[in-house]
Amino acid sequence: MLVVGGGVVGVCVAYYLARAGRRVCLVERGEVCSGCSHGNAGLLVPSHSVPLAAPGVVAKSLKWMFNPASPFYIKPRLDRELLSWLWRFNRACNRRQVQRAMPLIRDLSMESLRLYDELAADGTEFGLEHKGVLMLYKTEAGLREQVADGKAMGEFGIEARELSLSEISELSPNLSVDALGGVYYPQDGHVTPMQLVPEIARRAREMGVEVHTHTEVLAFERSGARISRVVTTRGDFTPEEVVLTAGSWSGVLARELGLRLPIQGGKGYSITFKRPLEAPSLPIVCGEAKIGVTPMIDALRFAGTLELAGLDLTISRQRVAAVLSGVPLYLPDLKPEEMELVEIWRGLRPCTPDGLPFLGRARHIDNLTVAAGHAMIGVSLGPVTGKLVAEVVSGEKPSIDLDLLKVDRYA
Ligand SMILES: Cc1cc2nc3c(=O)[nH]c(=O)nc-3n(C[C@H](O)[C@H](O)[C@H](O)COP(=O)(O)OP(=O)(O)OC[C@H]3O[C@@H](n4cnc5c(N)ncnc54)[C@H](O)[C@@H]3O)c2cc1C
Repeated sequence: MLVVGGGVVGVCVAYYLARAGRRVCLVERGEVCSGCSHGNAGLLVPSHSVPLAAPGVVAKSLKWMFNPASPFYIKPRLDRELLSWLWRFNRACNRRQVQRAMPLIRDLSMESLRLYDELAADGTEFGLEHKGVLMLYKTEAGLREQVADGKAMGEFGIEARELSLSEISELSPNLSVDALGGVYYPQDGHVTPMQLVPEIARRAREMGVEVHTHTEVLAFERSGARISRVVTTRGDFTPEEVVLTAGSWSGVLARELGLRLPIQGGKGYSITFKRPLEAPSLPIVCGEAKIGVTPMIDALRFAGTLELAGLDLTISRQRVAAVLSGVPLYLPDLKPEEMELVEIWRGLRPCTPDGLPFLGRARHIDNLTVAAGHAMIGVSLGPVTGKLVAEVVSGEKPSIDLDLLKVDRYA
């Protein structure tokens, strides 16, 4: 079996395939965890069970769209792929789609959390904590909207509690907060992604997975309805099965197989500091600014913003500045200029038009399985994706119904 891409999804797929007794090779064009899985906020979030495509998102996005410092931005350009993605996204922003998608995302997230516990119990150290996530709001409108979202989550079995300022300071006693109030999601967890992904890769290697880094897939050759050869910069592979887990680059690779996977890179930024003494004890999201602040092993990370950028990885200093200046408005003790910078980073979230990943076998290529397009929740869903791919490849009935995640739904 050949797994293409060594992000959180790829290493989890390789790990669970190896656990199922498969012989696995993983190819990654850079280092393991050099794509989007490196610098994200590390949140494991049943609380994010509403897909990106939801009613009201288009109106909100239009307001922000042309401001390069806003939480959501589209670089104005005439690009056929982008326009067609936006058209499909707009169509998916309806109540019916959200009601179908939410229980599925919730089930995937909850099962993934359980699998994270299993992985940690096996002695894998990657900073797993179950402290919940606190969302802070500075405006009445923002707080009311999140309280309403929390109520909607409650109907789907996801616990949400509105907290007063005194309850907030009990939860994070060592940090001053400048906000009107907040909503706390106790079931959420977090990890340190740059420890998690290499650690799962190490465990996969121990089970016999061959990991080939600096090995870029250049082309797939087909023989009838099968991939017969995978051409890479370090030689050819002739696997029986291929699993495509190349994040935002999966669409480009799938295109030459005649498979349409509309995936836009949703560029986000993070700024990582050496963990200061006054770090929050749990992850906090600065609500209106949409910036996450996550305490990690030895680090504190600010992460946020989403720019539909295609595959463009250039760094906008304006957007970095927006993340840096956004956090102290809510958490005045966290002054970037007084902390020790480790890294300014950007990455591309693999975003599909309906906010749901592609997961399953391709209809017209017998030996291809796809696991890509996890957008804002790829870390949350990594282990469950790996487990489901192992079930799909073995021909078992998947333990969670994957009908909404069909790989050919835009074919
Ligand atoms: C700012 C920010 C914050 C985020 N916060 C969270 C969060 O709190 N919780 C959460 O769950 N998610 C979060 N995410 C989203 C999460 O990071 C992604 O969903 C996840 O990393 C996607 O993983 P992946 O393995 O699909 O993609 P990637 O990590 O991008 O991996 C794909 C890999 O494929 C490789 N590749 C590409 N083309 C080829 C080729 N031709 N040959 C070989 N290899 C190839 C790439 O080099 C890359 O390493 C965040 C994202 C951002 C940007």
